[in-house]
Amino acid sequence: MNPRTESLRKILELEQVKGYNDLAVIGGLDRYLQHHLDESGDSLPPDFSYAALSKEKRKEWVEGVLGKLARIEPQALKTPAATKPSISRKRHSTPLATLEYSLDSPITVLKGISSALAAKFTKLGVKTIREMLYFFPHRHLDYTQRKPISELEVDKEQTIIATVWEAHTKVLGGRKGTEATVADNTRTIRVVWFNQPYIAKMLRTNTNIVISGKVSLFGDTEKVFRSPEWELLESEDLIHTGRLVPLYSLTEGLNPRSVRRLVKETVDRWAPQLLDFLPQEIRRRCSLLELPLSIQQAHYPDSEKAKDQARRRLAFDELFLIQLGVLSRKQEWQEGQRGNPLTIGMPILKNFLNALPFTLTAAQERVLGEILRDLEKPKPMCRLLQGEVGSGKTVVATAALLVAAANGYQGAFMAPTEILAEQHFNNISALLSRIGKLEEAKGHLYTYSALLPCPFSVALLKGSLNQSEKQRLQKHIKEGEVDLVIGTHALIQKEVEFQRLGLAVVDEQHRFGVMQRSTLRQKGFNPHVLVMTATPIPRTLALTIYGDLDLSTINQLPPGRKIVETKWLNPRQRGKAYDFVRRKVAERRQAFIICPLIEESENIEAKAAIAEYQRLSQQVFPDLRLGLLHGRIPTAEKEEVMKRFTSGELDILVSTPVVEVGIDVPNAVVMLIESADRFGLSQLHQFRGRVGRGEHQSYCLLLAQTPSAEARERLRLIEEIQDGFALAEKDLELRGPGEFFGTRQSGLPDLRMARLSDLALLELARDEAIRLFQQDSGLKQPKHSLLAKEMAQLWEKGGEIS
Ligand code: ADP
Ligand code: MG
Repeated sequence: MNPRTESLRKILELEQVKGYNDLAVIGGLDRYLQHHLDESGDSLPPDFSYAALSKEKRKEWVEGVLGKLARIEPQALKTPAATKPSISRKRHSTPLATLEYSLDSPITVLKGISSALAAKFTKLGVKTIREMLYFFPHRHLDYTQRKPISELEVDKEQTIIATVWEAHTKVLGGRKGTEATVADNTRTIRVVWFNQPYIAKMLRTNTNIVISGKVSLFGDTEKVFRSPEWELLESEDLIHTGRLVPLYSLTEGLNPRSVRRLVKETVDRWAPQLLDFLPQEIRRRCSLLELPLSIQQAHYPDSEKAKDQARRRLAFDELFLIQLGVLSRKQEWQEGQRGNPLTIGMPILKNFLNALPFTLTAAQERVLGEILRDLEKPKPMCRLLQGEVGSGKTVVATAALLVAAANGYQGAFMAPTEILAEQHFNNISALLSRIGKLEEAKGHLYTYSALLPCPFSVALLKGSLNQSEKQRLQKHIKEGEVDLVIGTHALIQKEVEFQRLGLAVVDEQHRFGVMQRSTLRQKGFNPHVLVMTATPIPRTLALTIYGDLDLSTINQLPPGRKIVETKWLNPRQRGKAYDFVRRKVAERRQAFIICPLIEESENIEAKAAIAEYQRLSQQVFPDLRLGLLHGRIPTAEKEEVMKRFTSGELDILVSTPVVEVGIDVPNAVVMLIESADRFGLSQLHQFRGRVGRGEHQSYCLLLAQTPSAEARERLRLIEEIQDGFALAEKDLELRGPGEFFGTRQSGLPDLRMARLSDLALLELARDEAIRLFQQDSGLKQPKHSLLAKEMAQLWEKGGEIS
């Protein structure tokens, strides 16, 4: 650091020590600064006065400047061992004039960015300088192939360096454009730009120009560049031509050339200011480029290889930070408080399993074992159970809940909808009645005798109970008279108090996150938690978003399940599909018809469903019994419809996509899906899972109006593949992680560089995160302080992972 900067630093530190009272230099800081800046040739904003600032503002300013000074320390610019010398780097000094700006300043402080322009960048998620650095191109054009004009080939991306012979405006295709003749020492070539007459003025004779793009033929033989990328060969760096040129996602009013130029300037100027938060040790061990260089190469790579190295480093960051996040959450959950170790060798478990109308599959046995071993431990279980639709997760969860109850704890079983909660209540009650006599059934509270040494009770807590019933039930739960409560997720979030909650099971939930877990803890418990999902999650994604959960998988269906025959029909075959439904109903089977997905609003979707229901029941199936489900039907009515469908009083259930999760009606054998092209693979698979649950051959019929190429691919895959995991992998490949769960649901911090298909990098990041966590889980060591800051920022912004 130069002596002048050094003295500024010392003074500011002194000012800090003295409590920002403007006592660090005699005569006040303003005078010192003025003098200092006069000497260095830098300036502060004209109306800046330290003396006039509040203490808080002084502190902020001093810290800002000190931060900046620390950043200009030369070691921040050193090349790590891993850096390949082939990659160029630029050094930039930091003039003090910009000290009042930081990486977190709005981009309006940058030269050439007006607030109107900034508003456009905001649309792209870029508000600050830092965000601009992380605004990566979605791909690069390869203009590295330099050719003499005489060797240009038609239809290939190529670059020439040439001299302008002459240029003029010309009407091209009815509008003014530019026509130029350029030459190198091999020959001349004509270049035209449509709609851009102003270029003509910029191409003075004898200027050197770089042109990148494809040539095409004019007539039979003449090669011409049409609207190629171009730039004058005057700056030392090429931006638009002759290199790997970045392509950014743009919004209206942003033109690619100015965005490229702005990003280039920002990257050159500000990337060197980024402090590398990755401990050097990790960078070395994993051969990762340093951060400033990676950012620079991610935008303007010197070569394909450099680009890949940059991407690898930046992708590593994303995955590593997520891993650290989930690890620290897991630790918080498991080590914050003692859990409740349970005794698992309870006779009731054996009785229950022996009394089942079937034997558990090997996979169910294995997973139950994993769960029981967790329950025995003094730290709370934190486990994700995934298993195909129909693989029998409920029974496994019920067994675990019984163990909790036998240990004198309460259990909670939460379903995503009331319909499902009711279904679980009925199923579980039925299973329990095989080992205990039903003693009393009061409303939604069933008591059994002989199940445990004392009576055992199961309650269904649902929104539609009347006030006094609800209060009575809540009182029972609070006083510990209820052993097992079944309800929606509201069960743990609202006013329900438990006496001794020992195990919480969350069914069919993609997003049971940290928040809910902390809600549980605020209730004064540290229960074991089992989250269940029928959406098979590819391993990479599971490690990423559920990295804080242990993973169990039921990878086997109970014996005798038939493959659901799946057929993609064109809209002209709709009549045939209806005939098919009619035939199946004649065989006393039932069918689902899923109405088109309408994203605008639940209201519009409900309206459309009502219309479709009327059409079907009046024109298509006037003689059959149809029911309707949509999001706007009151709960009690919904339940009524479900009940009638389950009991066979209805032949066809017309429904909006709400039916997707969990419903179990073994007599339903046809699933007809309208606008099947609008759904993702995992969702289609969920729908399909609603049939084929009984002994009868089942069918899934997919209708698609005008599927896009991608949708056709999905429909083809779902026809062909039955295995949910294989489909999930495909879904992830086709749609990316955000879409996989629905963008909002994933709760993932943005992954811009990481690809979830990159298992090796993910595992590397995970290993490193675990290693670091073992050394310094709180990131308290000085060498981890930047990392701690980065983590705090990320999780503040990204909020919550589930
Ligand atoms: P999911 O995993 O989708 O929640 P369920 O738990 O609802 O599946 O089980 C689907 C059906 O399979 C239920 O009717 C259940 O009773 C039955 N079932 C569960 N395990 C077995 C088994 N081992 N053998 C036969 N049927 C089983
Ligand atoms: Mg289920």
